[in-house]
Amino acid sequence: MTDASHSIHPTPGAVDLHCHTTASDGFLAPAALIALASAQQMRTIAITDHDTIDGLPEAIAAGQGLGVEIVSGVEISSNTGGTEIHLLGYFVDPSSTTLIDHLRWCIDSRIQRVERICERLTNAGLPLTVDEVLSVAGSGSVGRPHVAQAMIARGYIETIGEGFARYLGRGKPGFVQRENVAPGKAVGIIRESGGAAVLAHPYATSAALQLLPELIDAGLAGLEAWYGEYDTHTRQRLAELASSLDLIATGGSDFHGVGFKEGRALGSVPVGHDVVDQLRLAAGAPAHS
Ligand code: AMP
Ligand code: ZN
Ligand code: FE
Ligand code: FE
Repeated sequence: MTDASHSIHPTPGAVDLHCHTTASDGFLAPAALIALASAQQMRTIAITDHDTIDGLPEAIAAGQGLGVEIVSGVEISSNTGGTEIHLLGYFVDPSSTTLIDHLRWCIDSRIQRVERICERLTNAGLPLTVDEVLSVAGSGSVGRPHVAQAMIARGYIETIGEGFARYLGRGKPGFVQRENVAPGKAVGIIRESGGAAVLAHPYATSAALQLLPELIDAGLAGLEAWYGEYDTHTRQRLAELASSLDLIATGGSDFHGVGFKEGRALGSVPVGHDVVDQLRLAAGAPAHS
């Protein structure tokens, strides 16, 4: 059987393998994200929230209702030598105790970091309480974008971007490095939970590509070549690198919300459905019927 979307130059818009919801720092609830995907006539969405899979049940239910295929994903943060590396996990088993234990640990470490960020900001003359930040995050995985939103509510800054640039980014007065697992360990967690591990936005730090041999040893399956913010040349170079290393070249917009950032619109990245099939195979999940 031929698959119309299986091609070297896939049709943009049908598949997006990197999407955040309100379960982490996205602006749309899982059902609203899937409704948008359906309105755009998309076929497949991977939910890849930061250090949580809590958005999956709502997304899967919405996907069943609207005919959008949902890939169970997660974006796990890891640290190496003072920089942060993100690993995407696809087709993870939400009932995996390895995964659940790790994500539970992340909740605590994220809250502890927010406590320290609030302390630092308060000491710098910008009083902010943990409760203000947690109420922005709601029941979701709390992160710096929520701190920035709480700072906007206080009138300290006008945009989330300004919050990162002035206070929350590395080296800024409110920056606190979160305790995290090592990148190879993050790949191991994804593998142990039945998923396929992919290096997210490989140019986010210069350290990421240098780690490839170690990550491949740990069981890495792919590289995010078609990333929302990368130009065509960069995407092509990453796709060639993936191919030379026998890795799957994946793609996703890193959608956080409508109008969040240029290049990050839902479905803005050309990924074929064949990539979904390759990831499913790599994850060891049963073949697509
Ligand atoms: P955290 O997970 O708390 O370390 O926050 C990092 C997340 O914040 C990233 O994964 C992005 O989703 C988001 N982020 C990073 N930099 C910016 C920025 N300049 N403006 C808005 N969001 C950002
Ligand atoms: Zn995010
Ligand atoms: Fe990321
Ligand atoms: Fe992301």
